[in-house]
Amino acid sequence: MNIHEYQGKEILRKYGVAVPNGKVAFSVEEAVDAARALGGNVWVVKAQIHAGGRGKAGGVKVAKSLDEVREYANEILGKTLVTHQTGPEGKEVKRLLIEEGCDIKKEYYVGLVLDRATSRVVMMASEEGGTEIEEVAAATPEKIFKEVIDPVVGLTGFQARRLAFNINIPTELVNKAAKFMLGLYEVFVAKDCSIAEINPLVVTGDGNVMALDAKFNFDSNALYRQKDVVEYRDLDEEDPKEIEASKYDLSYIALDGNIGCMVNGAGLAMATMDTIKHYGGEPANFLDVGGGATTEKVTEAFKIILSDKNVKGIFVNIFGGIMKCDVIAQGVVEATKQVGLKLPLVVRLEGTNVDAGKEILKNSGLNITSADSMADGAQKIVSLVK
Ligand code: ADP
Ligand code: MG
Repeated sequence: MNIHEYQGKEILRKYGVAVPNGKVAFSVEEAVDAARALGGNVWVVKAQIHAGGRGKAGGVKVAKSLDEVREYANEILGKTLVTHQTGPEGKEVKRLLIEEGCDIKKEYYVGLVLDRATSRVVMMASEEGGTEIEEVAAATPEKIFKEVIDPVVGLTGFQARRLAFNINIPTELVNKAAKFMLGLYEVFVAKDCSIAEINPLVVTGDGNVMALDAKFNFDSNALYRQKDVVEYRDLDEEDPKEIEASKYDLSYIALDGNIGCMVNGAGLAMATMDTIKHYGGEPANFLDVGGGATTEKVTEAFKIILSDKNVKGIFVNIFGGIMKCDVIAQGVVEATKQVGLKLPLVVRLEGTNVDAGKEILKNSGLNITSADSMADGAQKIVSLVK
């Protein structure tokens, strides 16, 4: 789960990690009021969407008067911002962060990720802040420093200071930077993050070290114990199909292709997508209906797949292990009738009672193409959508 920058900064503030003062605004008036309440004479008007790259796309503007705050808020609110992370359709801005303008001396990068190779949380830092870390990794990988963190000991003071020295934080500010890093690590662990990225971390003219941007991603399997993080969820930022799917306990991820997939088990779902691609097709989604797929679930899954206008055909690939193939076939037939499916449908069943299941599909009077194997099914749906 993702959250907005201003929410990330709220969390940081609670843990004593330095961030500029700022306020969220949902309207132009609120934006001007926020700037007035913050005081000072330079403010930054920042689009709040769940995507980075806002600066380059015109979503971060420095205002030197309340009139300019009004002007930029007016310009950015309601605008569809297209950044390299939003995809070509962009994202509509519905919230702004009004923040104190900060006297930046230099921008750095600090991030925490879970490194699956070492099974450890790793802190990464670079003096190439402000730019994307992927670009730094490609062009000047020697400018990225890493500290692998022992989960029992946690990030230690000497590791944090070593990172600060390595990225050339001015000597007199190394302790402040280290304190920042230790606080960030504390947030990462306490809040069950999977990513925490501060880009840029800045050193200011008056000798402070603070986060000017904050990107957090949380492990959804841990949300049950992170009630305050769940409060931050913004459904406007999520794919409506994925929200619908989560209500029915379906694991659904929308993709760009035109073949809808309905599969049970994440491994089989991945293999199905690979096989479709192997035969020259493009999956429209990842969908795992889980072990106990009832008729109701199958029907919902069909509805969700069909609400994607790009879908030109559906491939159902189910292994009847815990569930029996005849029950699944019944579910597919009923769901097909209920949603009035007109697109080509290929069904491959394997497992318990597979013959009875195929019989039900054959006698349904519906236009369902039966397949004998995953490869057979993938080939059939690929040729049907072409
Ligand atoms: P994004 O990464 O989405 O482009 P950032 O929050 O990193 O958005 O902002 C982009 C740039 O805008 C930063 O690298 C920084 O130079 C500048 N900026 C952001 N917030 C402030 C602020 N409060 N004061 C001064 N400059 C800022
Ligand atoms: Mg940034």
